[in-house]
Amino acid sequence: MLRREGIGTNRYSAETHEGLSFVLPLDQKERESIGIMKTGVIVVDVQADFTELKQGALAVRGTDRVFIDGVRWSTEMFKEAKVTLVATQDWHPHNHISFYTSHEGKRPFDVTLIRGKEQVLWPPHCIQGTAGAELVLDEGFFDAFIKTGTDAEYESYSGFKDDGGSETDLHRILQQRGVTNVIVYGIATDYCVKATVMDALVRGYTVMVVKSLMRGVDPDTSARAVEEMKKRGAVLLDKLDGETLRESCGLLLPSS
Ligand SMILES: [Zn+2]
Repeated sequence: MLRREGIGTNRYSAETHEGLSFVLPLDQKERESIGIMKTGVIVVDVQADFTELKQGALAVRGTDRVFIDGVRWSTEMFKEAKVTLVATQDWHPHNHISFYTSHEGKRPFDVTLIRGKEQVLWPPHCIQGTAGAELVLDEGFFDAFIKTGTDAEYESYSGFKDDGGSETDLHRILQQRGVTNVIVYGIATDYCVKATVMDALVRGYTVMVVKSLMRGVDPDTSARAVEEMKKRGAVLLDKLDGETLRESCGLLLPSS
């Protein structure tokens, strides 16, 4: 995938599965000069239970091998570029409030009110320590893992905080590393990706979202989520585009 351009150089070229090619500047000074040290990537909930690939308990449509390979390739590329990479991980106790099994007489995907807020009741998923909660990507890619939904009483779509207002370490970790721009992708567009993007915008980050690297539970709510993210100021990229990334955050340089 990544090829060093000549023996002893610090330049690598790569071709994506979509045929785009990039040159990754890996020299320290060069990275600093184009601002690469300020960019972070948040990979949202790419976990077995959310994927068709692993026949997960709450598999989101379109999360097949091709999709996961695209996510893996892109994440590997960011790893090679030495940006801060954070994975969020849904991590529920077995009796989590978002599970239909925690509500008498309810069925999967019923909607109920919890503390006055509409809540979709999901099939039990991403239970702490189970195979379904494992990341489908190599853990070695990531600098940090943010576990969400760990409190049985509160839903937590956002990687930054749960519905009870309890903050995760995500903002602190990004701040410590001087991250000002975040690139977000993963699962699911209409829930955890959207909530994480909104909370990143509220906290003052410049946010880019990569449409080809995310999948949603429902086409209608996903389309609305994309519109809402745009309206609040997120930049929506159809796919990882070298020129756009370079112009907006100096991250990648196209080879041509
Ligand atoms: Zn969940």
